Amino acid sequence: MRVASGAGGQRPPTLTIVASGNGASALPVGMRLLRRGGNALDAVEACARIVEADPTDTSVGRGGKPNVLGIVELDASIVDGTTHRVGAVAALVGYLYPITIARAVMERTPHVMLVGAGAARFAREIGAAKAQNLTASTRELWVERLRKAHETPASVRRRARLLPVVRKTVREERGTVNFLAIDGAGHIASAVTTSGWAYKYPGRVGDSPIVGAGNYCDTRYGAAACTGFGELAIRNVTAKTAVDRLAKGIAPVEVARLAVADANVLDDAAFNIVVLAADGTHASATNREGRRYCFMTADMEEPVTTAREVVR
Ligand code: ASP
Repeated sequence: MRVASGAGGQRPPTLTIVASGNGASALPVGMRLLRRGGNALDAVEACARIVEADPTDTSVGRGGKPNVLGIVELDASIVDGTTHRVGAVAALVGYLYPITIARAVMERTPHVMLVGAGAARFAREIGAAKAQNLTASTRELWVERLRKAHETPASVRRRARLLPVVRKTVREERGTVNFLAIDGAGHIASAVTTSGWAYKYPGRVGDSPIVGAGNYCDTRYGAAACTGFGELAIRNVTAKTAVDRLAKGIAPVEVARLAVADANVLDDAAFNIVVLAADGTHASATNREGRRYCFMTADMEEPVTTAREVVR
């Protein structure tokens, strides 16, 4: 596969990592890895693991908000933009680094995605690090949300019908982290990891582990990943559509705008995208005020966090 070599095909690729705003603290680690000659796949995985292990991010990994039954179900995917190898896990319970398990699905199985009990079984089989991902503070938030729905942990567990409760527990309360990277050889990789929609119906899978919806990259053209109402990214196949638009020569800023405009046609729920072109240019758009994304290149000492363009 042809690898981008910078503007005009002459300059070496600019080492770049782009992330959703909650990924900023991980970027220096990913950039250090790229500067040492590491590859994009290792960089996005390393970044994602940092956020997964951080209990203060209540939208990803340990400390992520649980489903309606108080169980933290995690979704993650990783894409190698050069080989188009992909790996994903969904509704995974009890493990610390879903992104590493997704990568193992990609590298060690004949499959691309494992879900639920099968994903947990595979994680156990490869000796992945276990974790109780519900923390004391996310448990408290869950109990409080149930209380507002006139339920308790015991009552909700006894219920035959969860849907009426879920209708009361789910609000616009989601979150995810995206990482898109270009390495020194011009290869592109992308990683997305999340605890999904807070207080969701058990087994609900969002866009993050669905390659082409919440995560996609192609070393020839670039990468895109989404946060926000994942159902919209699935319905619009947003990340793949974005990379297809990059392939047509549309600039990242316009690609990002178009993705949010596509989401806005379906629903008025929050939706965000980050886009990175193979030449290192990047952009981000959202339909909410105050949303941010971040990036870091080889010549920067620290990541920069900046506003996403708002598309109504
Ligand atoms: N896209 C994620 C999901 O739908 C949540 C988010 O990013 O806010 O699971």
